[in-house]
Amino acid sequence: MRPVVDRDSAEWWKRVAGHEFVVQRCDSCGTLRFPARVYCHRCRTDRWHWEPVSPTGHVESWIVSHQPFLAGTSEPYVVVMVRLADAPGCVMYGNWCAEDPPVAGQPVEAVFSTVDEDLSLINWRPRE
Ligand SMILES: [Zn+2]
Repeated sequence: MRPVVDRDSAEWWKRVAGHEFVVQRCDSCGTLRFPARVYCHRCRTDRWHWEPVSPTGHVESWIVSHQPFLAGTSEPYVVVMVRLADAPGCVMYGNWCAEDPPVAGQPVEAVFSTVDEDLSLINWRPRE
């Protein structure tokens, strides 16, 4: 099973495959935004560029999924929602990569998980 890539997210997935951690920055009002969209939700212009940001943030929330993501797996897994340190208006989701459960507000950093040459995923682990 692979993530569904659409028109707006295709370039972002390509950059993640190259282990780049980027969000969009509006060229008009400067808003950092994620997930990728053509138009800025603040000022509605369509001029923007990719901007590298720190691959760090804080745990905002999480779930423990008991629904297998891949056929043949049965272990429950944790998906965290992370508010980005450099872009507090943006949240990203990813698998939790630690033995201990996440804690609200916990500082975290991104971990690129390479699936194949065309696909990497962004997961999260506690920041030292
Ligand atoms: Zn804007």
